[in-house]
Amino acid sequence: MSYKDSDPPIAHSSKKMGKRKKIALIAHDHRKSDLIDWCEFNSGSLSKHKLYGTGTTGTMIADKVGLDVTPFNSGPLGGDLQIGAAISEHKIDMMIFFWDPLQAQPHDVDVKALLRIGVLYNIPIANNRASADFIISSDLMDEEYNRFMVDYSKRFSKDVE
Ligand code: PGA
Repeated sequence: MSYKDSDPPIAHSSKKMGKRKKIALIAHDHRKSDLIDWCEFNSGSLSKHKLYGTGTTGTMIADKVGLDVTPFNSGPLGGDLQIGAAISEHKIDMMIFFWDPLQAQPHDVDVKALLRIGVLYNIPIANNRASADFIISSDLMDEEYNRFMVDYSKRFSKDVE
């Protein structure tokens, strides 16, 4: 598939996020304590939303912070890919993902796939604590929001004509 300057603008579709956001929480091992601390600090805000997590992260947040977190598989066992699939099905609205910038992971390809899907579906993503602070303190957290997405299907259908 290739684009030419003469092609019409890419079509967009949109997806409405409700007031109660569906938030994925993920942290690599050396970043888990930071995410748990952040969840503790923001537990009042987070409790208003529906929370998901990769297996170990989600279970630790539930145990240590007392938030209700629905766990997927552990990240290295496919949890990142499950969350990516859920984003593609509009079952996750945003992602707080503290990945480790200092250590390679056995499932780095899954991490890359998840981040790509998150960008593609235009969900808010925080990969560090300052970004997470800005997201959680946004007025948009308690409002409906229309997320625009490039509708690649229009491109594909055009190309096969
Ligand atoms: P975990 O997975 O929460 O099961 O440790 C996180 C990850 O490595 O993606």
